[in-house]
Amino acid sequence: MSDFQLRIAPVKVRFGAGVRRHLAEEVEALGACRALILSTSGRAETARQLASGLGGRACGTFAKAAMHTPVEVTREAVAKATDLQADCIIAVGGGSTTGLGKAIAYRTDLPQIVVPTTYSGSEATPILGQTENGIKTTLTDSKVQPEVILYDAELVQGLPVGITVTSALNAMAHAVETLYAKDRNPLSSALALEGLKAFREALPAVIKSPHDLNARGKTLYGAWLCGSVLGQVGMALHHKLCHTLGGSFGLLHADTHAILLPHTAAYNEGAVREILQPAADLFGGGLGDGLYAFAGQMGAPRALRDIGLNLSDLDKAAELAVRNPYWNPRPVERSAIRELLQRAFEGAPPEDIDGRS
Ligand code: NAD
Repeated sequence: MSDFQLRIAPVKVRFGAGVRRHLAEEVEALGACRALILSTSGRAETARQLASGLGGRACGTFAKAAMHTPVEVTREAVAKATDLQADCIIAVGGGSTTGLGKAIAYRTDLPQIVVPTTYSGSEATPILGQTENGIKTTLTDSKVQPEVILYDAELVQGLPVGITVTSALNAMAHAVETLYAKDRNPLSSALALEGLKAFREALPAVIKSPHDLNARGKTLYGAWLCGSVLGQVGMALHHKLCHTLGGSFGLLHADTHAILLPHTAAYNEGAVREILQPAADLFGGGLGDGLYAFAGQMGAPRALRDIGLNLSDLDKAAELAVRNPYWNPRPVERSAIRELLQRAFEGAPPEDIDGRS
């Protein structure tokens, strides 16, 4: 066995339909008694319900979380937490709300409890992305890692099918890039494969019956695994392309991941075929083709042109993607990336790695 090293954060994780009803005991276990509950405006009612379930342990709600964690929203939330003398943050929502909780914790070191309602996996990482003057920067800090995660399948039951699929593919992308990460280790590889397997098995059942609590629970299990590995190892071409397209062209985060994943998997497949084989076996055929078929069966968007990218953006996108590239198992070449983007733009199947296209 090769040498390896890894860091695992001390996080308490609880799974279960209805587990949010144990929130008060988790707040108490943190030694806290004044929790500020965060959400987006769309999930404000859920935040209010959690607050009323906490009785005297909630000091207020803040329902202004927004995508990519704008620092002006964070400043307002920190001021509110300070005014209310909050001693704990509870984030109920997807990656945007979790991001706000992390941004507050980074500035105040308050402990965090996250109750995820999408599959983004942000709750399982010490990574914070935030935006100031239109520029998104990312940092990693142990203060940012939430202390407690409550995965309650009842809260994802109502996640619309469209976001369910794109959010799941966003999580699966963390796992695929973990498999070939430069700093992968035996644990990260095992967790990533288990995460892909959970989504492969449970996502079709969720699409068929969105209120199936058992299947929803299994997709949350997949989200946790895929998020955990995102926090352990470095990401590669896929995440670089998604950050480029999201940051420079304003494309929706999860949709961009969903469309690009089959293409980036295919791009790298020839360079790391043995490593990707167990994942390819889960989906059938090559991993890129298998993921393209799976995403299509789940009803995922397939074409970048359908989510707001223009044909005239492709040259600039290819240019930006090869500038300061992340480490990647196959060299990141401009012409090959331009070709990849063209296929993703049109919604065409990924390039066959053996050149048969
Ligand atoms: P999101 O949090 O923006 O949620 C998308 C929309 O879905 C929002 O309008 C939200 O109110 C709504 N929503 C959430 N849960 C719902 C539910 N159960 N039912 C109905 N509507 C619901 O989107 P996301 O994809 O979860 O997160 C994306 C953000 O997370 C991005 O900013 C991304 O950069 C970040 N992210 C960070 C990390 C990390 O480790 N730092 C990892 C993954 C994603």
